[in-house]
Amino acid sequence: MIQFYNVSKIYDNGVKALNDVSLTIRKGEFLFLVGPSGAGKTSLIKLICREELASRGQVLLNGKNLARCKPWEIPLLRRKIGMVFQDFRLLYKKTAFENVAFALQIAGKSRKEINKSVPPVLEMVGLGDKANMMPAQLSGGEQQRACIARAIVNKPNILIADEPTGNLDPDTSWEIMKLFLDINRKGTTLIVSTHDREIVDTM
Ligand code: ADP
Repeated sequence: MIQFYNVSKIYDNGVKALNDVSLTIRKGEFLFLVGPSGAGKTSLIKLICREELASRGQVLLNGKNLARCKPWEIPLLRRKIGMVFQDFRLLYKKTAFENVAFALQIAGKSRKEINKSVPPVLEMVGLGDKANMMPAQLSGGEQQRACIARAIVNKPNILIADEPTGNLDPDTSWEIMKLFLDINRKGTTLIVSTHDREIVDTM
């Protein structure tokens, strides 16, 4: 569960990105963050992953006040959150398989575990037959699928996607949204930021 209590975020240059936000996101919810560019969506996401701290108010993740997190707790906390980005952020010299495997390597998983875990996740996102392809050989939608596979392979409780369809055409965007719905139905909390009202209305 994620709780915001009267949260404001004011950056060092004086820009107020969030003003007195209170909200609760429950386990298993599918939540859209909707607003134009500059509305504060990324700032809100950064507060959840503790990339930024609130200037005022409190952010709680599973009851834990993120302002009180010890430095060593932060990587453990982030491991429970999968992240998907507009610009994919894949490693371009690694195959789709290796990109997903990398997330498991960082989490300290053995080669045996990696070889067992990656194929079903690639299959789930629809890249079962493209495991050995490089990102440059994949379409935008396929690169986003690889990014989603990388984000869910560690079985996070929460998946956050920041403008995941910003670089995709409408049909591909819809396919990616259906994939998010599948992941959500399996129990993962989904937070998707978008400025695309049509997607939200259709969903
Ligand atoms: P969105 O994701 O909805 O486009 P952002 O959270 O990225 O919105 O930005 C909200 C506001 O905060 C914008 O005015 C942006 O310029 C400002 N902002 C974001 N990050 C920083 C930063 N690191 N330093 C200063 N201002 C920032």
